Amino acid sequence: MNSHQVQQWMETTLSLIKENETTLSELDQTIGDGDHGVNMVRGFQAVVDEFPNWEQENTSAVMQKIGTTLVSKVGGASGPLFGTGFMRLGAAFKSEEGAWADGLTKAAEGIAQRGKVSVGDATLLDVWDPVAKVVQAKGTDWAEVERAAQDGMNGTKQLETKRGRGALLKERSIGHLDPGAVSSYYLFHALVQTMTK
Ligand code: ADP
Ligand code: MG
Ligand code: MG
Repeated sequence: MNSHQVQQWMETTLSLIKENETTLSELDQTIGDGDHGVNMVRGFQAVVDEFPNWEQENTSAVMQKIGTTLVSKVGGASGPLFGTGFMRLGAAFKSEEGAWADGLTKAAEGIAQRGKVSVGDATLLDVWDPVAKVVQAKGTDWAEVERAAQDGMNGTKQLETKRGRGALLKERSIGHLDPGAVSSYYLFHALVQTMTK
């Protein structure tokens, strides 16, 4: 992936998140405080706006800058988690060899650590982790990435939310998609679109 493709990835993510901003906030209203759509639009808009300042940077540096921008601009609990994901990806892209498998695996580990979550807690990790695992197992098979991200997102509906505001609902959180898992699905859907163009 070159830095121009990273830019396309971020622009596609922003437009998907903008189109679905209300849905994301409504999902967060059910199990949280109703700001996830607003938080994500603010963060990815800031990323897209920064790209002109990053023209001289390589893929690794751009991904790391995306991470720090998301940490500082998103506002909610999701910001540092998406931010960690991108910083870990950026570190892995210092070498091209196996960068996706290595970066996504370290991103999922970083999110789990920082959020103190496990797979199955109905958070965005339930999308990042299966995506990392499928790339680890099969390489960058983008159709498989799409399927893993979609299944991970849909899987959060059956799960009880164990972390973040949704955890306060206990078993009443079952039956609702996790908002951070849905926005993470858009992120990976945008990646697949960028890489299969
Ligand atoms: P906030 O909860 O601060 O309002 P957002 O609404 O932007 O932040 O993000 C909520 C999403 O963040 C949740 O749907 C979940 O996926 C994710 N999340 C929140 N806390 C954690 C955590 N400790 N570990 C992993 N993911 C989390
Ligand atoms: Mg929220
Ligand atoms: Mg909030």
